Amino acid sequence: MKRDYYEVLGVERNSDAGHIKKAFRRIALAHHPDQNPDDPEAAKIFREASEAYEVLGDAEKRDLYDRYGHEGVEGRVQTAGADVHDIFSHFGDFFGDLFGGRPFQQARKGRDLRVRLEVPFSEVLSGAERSIQLRRNRPCTTCNGTGSESEQGPETCGMCSGTGQVVQRQGLFVMSTTCPRCEGSGGVIKDPCASCDGRGVHVDTSPLVIHVPAGVSSGMQIRMRGEGDQADPQLPPGDLLVVFRVEDAPAPWVRDGADLHQPLALDLPTAVLGGQVQVEGLDGLMALTIPAGTGEGAVLPLHGAGLPNPAGHQGDLLVHVQLQVPRQLNPETRALWQSLKDRQDETA
Ligand SMILES: [Zn+2]
Ligand SMILES: [Zn+2]
Repeated sequence: MKRDYYEVLGVERNSDAGHIKKAFRRIALAHHPDQNPDDPEAAKIFREASEAYEVLGDAEKRDLYDRYGHEGVEGRVQTAGADVHDIFSHFGDFFGDLFGGRPFQQARKGRDLRVRLEVPFSEVLSGAERSIQLRRNRPCTTCNGTGSESEQGPETCGMCSGTGQVVQRQGLFVMSTTCPRCEGSGGVIKDPCASCDGRGVHVDTSPLVIHVPAGVSSGMQIRMRGEGDQADPQLPPGDLLVVFRVEDAPAPWVRDGADLHQPLALDLPTAVLGGQVQVEGLDGLMALTIPAGTGEGAVLPLHGAGLPNPAGHQGDLLVHVQLQVPRQLNPETRALWQSLKDRQDETA
């Protein structure tokens, strides 16, 4: 049961737009995920408030919500269930304003990286661990990101006293220029680390293990926190986004999410009288009961015989009946069909 959006933001139903914005700002600041890392409760409150604000902060959606409740805005709320960091990018400007006018993510952590991973159909069934190679900047392991052999890091630049600027006087003029020794950083590394040339970072290509979830489908993505680029050892690393591209199900199956569809050629006597047939399941042949009087296009489900579903219960195998009308009859079968027809003509 979803909570009432007004209740979530703690505002009255007749509150004006400014009041609602203020209420959301207060909650967002208190439960900001960077202020509360690894706190699922804060993330939950933040997510709930974002969803409420997306609706109540928009005159059109708010009107729909007032009139029809949650159903009125169903499918129109983009932040519902979204990752908290994706919510920030969704609200873009609003959060820019909230956190001092700078783009929130870029300035505060390393670059996010994105990889596409091709997944064979066989890995959909039970998931997999895959090792990939990625080129990314990471803090140098020899000097622990300090850039110096002794791990002392930079010392204050003697030329500019750490200001990064040198002041030159020429008669009446005072000119300030970037310090040539430290290139404006204010620090000089006296014993540069040999493996990273004093940069503190190196290009890391060591293999990275990616967990492919069972039931994965094309377009699904996972975010691996902190596995992205880290060009500046002083800032936290970016994230790695893995986007999956999954091979189609092999014939005779056609995949639809966690469900599999497949055709079944069914003879007329079994369709009329009912019976049992064998169909190809993921783990081999499976028995399927055909009820008497099964018609063309009937869909017979084998519950739970589909694919794993990362979001819920196991999918189904859905068998679509295609009746096979005999084309060539031998004298004996012709006689049988003829007698059926005669009986039908009599009773008609
Ligand atoms: Zn180093
Ligand atoms: Zn300097």
